[in-house]
Amino acid sequence: MPNLSQPDNHATWSARDLAVLWHPCTQMRDHETVPMIPMARGEGAWLIDYDGRRYLDAVSSWWTNIFGHANPRIAAAIKDQLDKLEHVMLGGFSHAPAIELAEELLRIAPPGLARVFYADNGSSGIEVALKMSFHYWRNLGRGEKTRFIALTGSYHGETLGALSVTDVALYRDTYAPLLLAPIFVTSPDCYERDAQQSWQDYSIARLADMRVALERHAHETCAVIIEPLVQCAAGMRMYHPAYLTGLRKLCDEFEVHLIADEIAVGFGRTGTLFACEQGDITPDFLCLSKGLTGGFLALSAVLTTDAIYQAFYAEYSAGKAFLHSHSYTGNALACRAALETLAIFRDEPVLERNRELAAHLSYALAPLSEHPHVAEVRQTGLIAAVELVRDKTTRDVFPAEQRRGLRVYQHGLSRGMILRPLGNIVYFMPPYVITPDEIDLMVEVAREGIEITLRD
Ligand SMILES: *Cc1c(COP(=O)(O)O)cnc(C)c1O
Repeated sequence: MPNLSQPDNHATWSARDLAVLWHPCTQMRDHETVPMIPMARGEGAWLIDYDGRRYLDAVSSWWTNIFGHANPRIAAAIKDQLDKLEHVMLGGFSHAPAIELAEELLRIAPPGLARVFYADNGSSGIEVALKMSFHYWRNLGRGEKTRFIALTGSYHGETLGALSVTDVALYRDTYAPLLLAPIFVTSPDCYERDAQQSWQDYSIARLADMRVALERHAHETCAVIIEPLVQCAAGMRMYHPAYLTGLRKLCDEFEVHLIADEIAVGFGRTGTLFACEQGDITPDFLCLSKGLTGGFLALSAVLTTDAIYQAFYAEYSAGKAFLHSHSYTGNALACRAALETLAIFRDEPVLERNRELAAHLSYALAPLSEHPHVAEVRQTGLIAAVELVRDKTTRDVFPAEQRRGLRVYQHGLSRGMILRPLGNIVYFMPPYVITPDEIDLMVEVAREGIEITLRD
């Protein structure tokens, strides 16, 4: 119930929040010193708090918000849907938004994908892909395939299955006793290459590690799961598309599935609609979420092939049906938001504009690579990252407990900018509606924050 006796301002909402909420990805005690900011409104690339202060959302609210906050087109589509049908269970029932969205996703996805399974968020989409891959092999009489191969530095979400194939210590280590034991193979992450080596050569060389793992484990492995081109949560670690091409061939050769988790990189983020296109591959499972609804509602989609679908299609008594259901599977409002998001891609030259913005971002960031505490400035499409180090030649890192990234975050807030560094990696993943001037501002505030954080 609204409390009319309390003023509608930042201090009040912030205090009421801290009295009752428990926030994700947060040591709540930090909020004794780090502000927590309730937002009153959104407007394109900007968020506005209850005191009217404006913040440029340089990270698209955890990479979801691709066409700006309160985007009028998506908002209108949801309002229209709201008066028709908000939801119906997808077991035994259906609706136009779910059907049209599936048709449209299959039309724009890499060729060869023929079926869409919905879930509620990225992690649950990953659970679907893992279970479906395992179950496919089981339906074929190969129940001994129970394991997964993932890359070092991978992030696929934080429910137990998705966390099992995640290799970011911060999220994984505490819960490790609860998890499946995947096989982790060295990532093609080009930060690790020698200075003279090209991205392409380094990434291709890492396929040898994958081959070794497959030679040993393919017989017990359901699938290899990867984040195409950019391992975002690991710190925007990037690699060359040739790895995707080579990996697709290896998965075919060794009879394991390839799961492409494009939850973060899908929908134009890397310069193409899907990152897989750059390696000219079709995965066996394509997992989508985050940008799918333009950042409006929680929805994920797992696209797969007809060959996989057919392995489940049998007499009821054969017991081959896929079993995974969420109450809100294929929610009508979320599907409608996604349909409108895809309509924006159809009606506007989004990818062309993103390439121009990416070129501008690259130009604005270039001087930072000379900085004595910057090991690397890297970029793939509209994702860019600045890797801070204590020593540029040895790449010796700052101790985690110094929390230098947090200081960049706090400086950003004081300048009306939402930057959320991943450890010592300052990154940019702006909404596609950002302007070149706003990109300049974003880089300027980050540069100031980096100077401040390096002072002692
Ligand atoms: C965010 C993310 C997920 C998990 O999605 P949630 O909706 O947060 O559960 C999975 N994989 C990747 C690559 C992601 O970036």
